[in-house]
Order: sequence, then C-alpha cells, then structure tokens
Amino acid sequence: MSNFSSHNFQGQKALVRVDFNVPLDDQFKITDDNRMTATIPTIRKILSDGGSVVLMSHFGRPKDGPTDKYSLKHLVEHLKQLLNADGQTVNVLFADNSIGEQAVTAAANLKPGEVLLLENLRFYKEEEKGDEAFAEKLSKLGDVYVNDAFGTAHRAHASTAVIAKFFEPGKKLFGLLMEGEVISAEKVLHQAEKPFTAIIGGAKVSDKILIIENLLERATDIIIGGGMAYTFLKARGGQIGNSLCEDDRLQTALDILEKAKQKNVSIHLPEDSVIADKFDAAANTEVKPSDAIPQGWMGLDIGPKAIGIFSEVIEKSKTILWNGPMGVFEMEKFQEGTKSIALAVAASTAKGAFSLVGGGDSVAAVNKFELADKVSYVSTGGGAMLEYFEGKVLPGIAAIKQ
Ligand code: AMP
Repeated sequence: MSNFSSHNFQGQKALVRVDFNVPLDDQFKITDDNRMTATIPTIRKILSDGGSVVLMSHFGRPKDGPTDKYSLKHLVEHLKQLLNADGQTVNVLFADNSIGEQAVTAAANLKPGEVLLLENLRFYKEEEKGDEAFAEKLSKLGDVYVNDAFGTAHRAHASTAVIAKFFEPGKKLFGLLMEGEVISAEKVLHQAEKPFTAIIGGAKVSDKILIIENLLERATDIIIGGGMAYTFLKARGGQIGNSLCEDDRLQTALDILEKAKQKNVSIHLPEDSVIADKFDAAANTEVKPSDAIPQGWMGLDIGPKAIGIFSEVIEKSKTILWNGPMGVFEMEKFQEGTKSIALAVAASTAKGAFSLVGGGDSVAAVNKFELADKVSYVSTGGGAMLEYFEGKVLPGIAAIKQ
C-alpha cells in the first residue's frame, strides 16, 4: 500500500473523498466545521506538491435528488476561507453536479493549485447503492484517488469503496486524516501495550455487545459505565429502581460476565451511582450503591467510589480505548463521572499511555471538558470506529488496501 506523505502529487489531479457532512443552521451557516478543518492538511499537501484537487462528499440525507437545502454550494465560501488562511491564494471552484458535463469540464480544466468541489454525491441514488457505473464515471475525474472520509469508511458506497477498483495500486491512497485514524485504531486493536483498558459507556447494551465481545479477546480490563451498566447490575441480582435497563439483554449481560471470567478479563461495574428522582436537570439527587437503588429513582451518573476505582484502573493502563459517557453528562448534575474519567484518561496519557477516544458522545465529552489535546487521539468517525472495534472489515479501508 502506498503512503500519502511520500507520494508526489506534482501534475496530478487528486480525486479526494472527504466527509463535509457538517451541521448548518437555518441561515446556512456552519455551526461546527471540524469535519472540514480535519481534512485541510490533506488538501494542502496535494496543492503544495503542485497537484490539483477534486473534492467529493455527501451532505445530509436528501431523499429526492437535488435539493437546495442539501447543496454543497453552501460550504464553498467557508472552504475558500479555510484554504486561503495564512496568506495563501487558492482558487476554489464549484460544479453543480457530480458526474455531468459541468463536473467533467471543470475537472478537465482544473489547473495545478486549484480546488474543485463537486455537488452532493447523494443527489444520485447510485452513490449509496454502490453502483459501479457511477463509481467509474467519478473515477474519470482524477488521476489518483484519495480517501480521507473515515466517517463513511464503514459504508460500501460508490465514492467510498467501489471507486477504488478503477485505480491501480499506487494510485489509491488514504489521506492524512484517514491514515491517522487507521494507524491509531490498529495500534489499539493489534499492538496494544498491556494493561489495556477499554471504557465503554452510553445508553444501550444492545449497541455495544459486539464491541465488548471483541474486546474480551484483547483487553485486560473493561470498565462499564453509563446507562448500560444497570442491565449488568440487574442481571447480577441488583435492585436498580427505575434506571435504564434492557430486560431482553439480561442473559447477554450474564454471558459477557461469564466469558470475561474465563478469559481473565476484569470487568468493572460502578459500585455506586448518583441517583435522581426524575430524568431532569433539576431533579433531587443522592449517592447510593448501584445495586440498591430505590423504586422511583434512577442512576444517572457513576458515584464517587466508582470514580475512584475506575480512575485507579485507568491510571495504571498503558493503552486506553474510550467509547461512551459514564452518565448523562449533558446535564451539570450528572457530568462529574464522565469528567473525572476524562481527567483520568488525560493523566494516564501524560504518564505515557496511548489513549484513543472514539464515538460521538465521548468525543463531545472530551471537547466539553477541553481535554481533547490531552489524549493521544480523538477519532472523527463514530459509527466507523465502533464497527472497526467490533472487528468488522471496513469497506473504505479494505478498498484501498487491496
Ligand atoms: P450512546 O449513544 O449509546 O453512546 O449513549 C449516549 C447517551 O447515553 C448520552 O446522551 C447520555 O446522556 C446517555 N446516558 C449515559 N448514562 C445514562 C444513564 N445512566 N441513564 C440514561 N442515559 C444515560
């Protein structure tokens, strides 16, 4: 597999799949441009080599073809600003289709140093279907294919996977963002220095069964917090009051606990919880053992004892994977658990551990507590990262490696 950093793009037209699926307000203003800024280094490297860039992305979920609301034209001005920062002058063009005459002509006339953004790929139903003819037409717009869209790497769509077959080895590459994601994920999954602690939280056990099962083969410790912990606690015979629980997963929880015992993996459940008399930011709260929660009350965060025990495990670790919050961190009364765990991960990282935070809500949490630069890697791909850690082959990664 060729390496992006050592590839010389001089005179080449790079067709770059990015994830520009950013949120807009009703005035079409971008409210969070992280997905765009994350891929700027990839674009800059191609341009500074003397190449040109054709960008393609999906945007929202248009149902019936071209719709103004989902047009990528709303992003052009911001893209210009990002690329023209630091006194650079980059010409950014826009084609109002992806494979039509305008796109083909604009791509053909593109000069070194210029960028062309194609219209939303999902205006074509062929994109999500992984249509070969559509992928082939796209492939004609560039000499080299670069995939920098980790967020869609788990989808076998035309522009994320199928297209790669129309490029020879050496002409299909991961961009810098994707390369960083793959290297970090592989480090945790295949080269983890032990002790390796996985911290799994969030609302539902059912969403995290596959990742836990895969991690049972690799981790030394698994910390389980958040709403999903109460299904485990009830399965062990605890009284969990009105806490979140998936009654149809009680046996699954017991099976996971049993398997962990056989494999010598320590599973840590929260010994105590911050409980509330309603799911509300202004609820009355108390701290109680997690297996003795009275009726009418619910666990909405891990308690101080759990924080102490979990932090100790985390601070002894050499590799840490964190997916999912420890409580309802969006409400101030229930954020302490998630914040303390974020601090423990940061402290362990400062002592030399490799830490990877992935999944929408844990990423939101490290950002909220301003700790993103204190962990080793923050993944941009929620669903893709989860599937990677479930042990699945991601089509977007496989397509480049083949
Ligand atoms: P997930 O998307 O499955 O990772 O779940 C994230 C959501 O779980 C967040 O919005 C949290 O507010 C929520 N959550 C975490 N802990 C609890 C809990 N103890 N009870 C209810 N919801 C929770």
